[in-house]
Amino acid sequence: MNPFVYERARNVDHACASGRDKDTRFLGGGTNLIDLMKQGVEHPLRLVDVSRLPLAEIAALPDGGLRLGAAARNTDTANHELVRTRYPLLTQAILAGASQQLRNLATNGGNLLQRTRCYYFYETAFPSCNKRNPGSGCGAREGRSRMHAILGASEHCIATHPSDMAVALAALDAVVRVRGTEGERALPLGDFYRLPGDTPQMDTNLRHGELITAIDLPASPYAAHCHYLKVRDRASYAFALVSVAAALDMQAGVVRSVRIALGGVAHKPWRALEAERMLEGRALDEARLAAAAKAAVADARPQKENAFKVTLGQRAIVRAVRIAAGVAT
Ligand code: SF4
Repeated sequence: MNPFVYERARNVDHACASGRDKDTRFLGGGTNLIDLMKQGVEHPLRLVDVSRLPLAEIAALPDGGLRLGAAARNTDTANHELVRTRYPLLTQAILAGASQQLRNLATNGGNLLQRTRCYYFYETAFPSCNKRNPGSGCGAREGRSRMHAILGASEHCIATHPSDMAVALAALDAVVRVRGTEGERALPLGDFYRLPGDTPQMDTNLRHGELITAIDLPASPYAAHCHYLKVRDRASYAFALVSVAAALDMQAGVVRSVRIALGGVAHKPWRALEAERMLEGRALDEARLAAAAKAAVADARPQKENAFKVTLGQRAIVRAVRIAAGVAT
């Protein structure tokens, strides 16, 4: 690991001013960043510790929504009474990720900013990775691609985003609040993340030095009918091959509204908008659900080793929606 300067942020303005330096990174729980530094993938000259800033509150909003502080720990978020009762989908997703020890340390802001687990990205002895070293190529495209994207990828990068929490937040229409030296911005989760395109080194639309201060959730009608389904190679402490966050607002067997987001299939949490459109306003029957699931992966472009994700994704959508609707267990 390279030598670096450790500094504790005095307040949010101080953090934002410090973060403008291109060699500075914010330190939250450090559960991903420190690994990346040890591996030689990231080599900041200065870490600004933002974990002690007063950004850990979880509080109800006047419009019925909820504000999650960026510095709140994942465990505290998952177990917070307002999250468990109003947004059980988020609780399920957070508890499906990492391990208890990691969740105790990881912050909400850090969870959103964790980087892909592509093997080639972490192995610095391997020369070809456009995300780690722009212009060097993509080792995964001709190499091991079992864990990689089937939707929204580019010739420059086929990595997936690893967060479970972010998939539930995508389904719940979360908004990410950020602060920089030029003021505050609010980014819907779908705009917060980027597809790889020809700049896969950029995971998000954060400007350099901007700090995530909170994540806002709108009032949700989905608490009674939601499910996070994660399919992975082992039962715990593994990243998703495919995951589905399904949330339904049901009345007398009819889907008044539905949100479906997929994880493990793209560079960002992937909203299945066409599937949602096909299900909304109709009774939930098997044929319609199967057709919606098929539509969700219609644009899939699998790699050599992950064509199975197309079928797996469809089946996972069907199962997650049925469990959310209460017609399967
Ligand atoms: Fe790097 Fe992306 Fe290719 Fe993985 S998929 S090797 S992260 S460019």
